[in-house]
Amino acid sequence: MVADRMELCNNAVEFKWSWVRSMLNYVENGQLQQLIGMIGGSNIGSGNDSWKWKYEASGEFSVANVKKVLNSVARVRPSKVFEWNNWVPKKVALVAWRAEMERLPAKLALSARNIPVQNQLCAMCGEYEESSEHLFVSCHFAQIIWQNIVGWCTVPPIIAFDVKDLLMLHGFSPGSGKKRKAFYAIVLVSFWSQSRLKGE
Ligand SMILES: [Zn+2]
Repeated sequence: MVADRMELCNNAVEFKWSWVRSMLNYVENGQLQQLIGMIGGSNIGSGNDSWKWKYEASGEFSVANVKKVLNSVARVRPSKVFEWNNWVPKKVALVAWRAEMERLPAKLALSARNIPVQNQLCAMCGEYEESSEHLFVSCHFAQIIWQNIVGWCTVPPIIAFDVKDLLMLHGFSPGSGKKRKAFYAIVLVSFWSQSRLKGE
């Protein structure tokens, strides 16, 4: 224990080493002096040892304080954090999450990873390169699906230029928070079911 080796005598630290060998060699002695130089000036009390969080004056650890410390340093924040929705299963929401990052195995993404694909054209329309962006946003087939959802949910027409826009729609849709959450759930499910359709 530290208490066995360091004792407080008249407010000064006194070391009580108990070496196995009686003599220290020259190098060891140098290291010992260095150690004493480092710890000799530290304040020790007579109470029990305890853990202290050094970023808080009280020494108490809290998640709020960790947040404060993290915010005080220049931390790169993601521009937008994916919003999960506990009304749909995780594996369903994952499709939209991956689509937003172009991490779905669309043909364009596959060929970018050197995975051979017959051609890079959209499996639905066969006219444009198949990216997640195209599959879920600009493809004619996707647009029909979104139009139907709009009609069904009675929300204003969808104007989306990319996957992010689709995932932000519910924020602007009318109605209560609950209604918006339901609409977002439908959007997420739609991503998932469209990906089933396209055999992803
Ligand atoms: Zn298409």
